[in-house]
Amino acid sequence: MRSRIKWGDLVIIAAVLLLAAGVAAALALGQGGGQLYAEVWREDTLVERVQLTGETDRTIDLDGHNVIVLAGRTARMQSADCRDQVCVRTGTLTRAGQAAVCLPNRVVLKLVGDTGEIDAIVS
Ligand SMILES: [Zn+2]
Repeated sequence: MRSRIKWGDLVIIAAVLLLAAGVAAALALGQGGGQLYAEVWREDTLVERVQLTGETDRTIDLDGHNVIVLAGRTARMQSADCRDQVCVRTGTLTRAGQAAVCLPNRVVLKLVGDTGEIDAIVS
């Protein structure tokens, strides 16, 4: 009887340890890291993928058609030669999951994180 209880305890301890290791691994893989990336897509092709940090300061010019500005942990479509200007009026993107879409030029600027929100954006 005593040995049986001991065995059961060991199983529980092992299970708890495995669970803790799994959680730690998931966290280490970036689930809680809060990494933010700006992705620029043109005609279904990934043109640029830039990690946004507090020091990010970059301008991406897509042949003069769309000008994208990455500043700190934000991104925006600064200018575009499309007619509707919807992408420009979208404003500044600050969170993963947000996107500025330029349908006429088939350009998409979007922010993605490491938290699995990426899939929600792709249509
Ligand atoms: Zn546009």
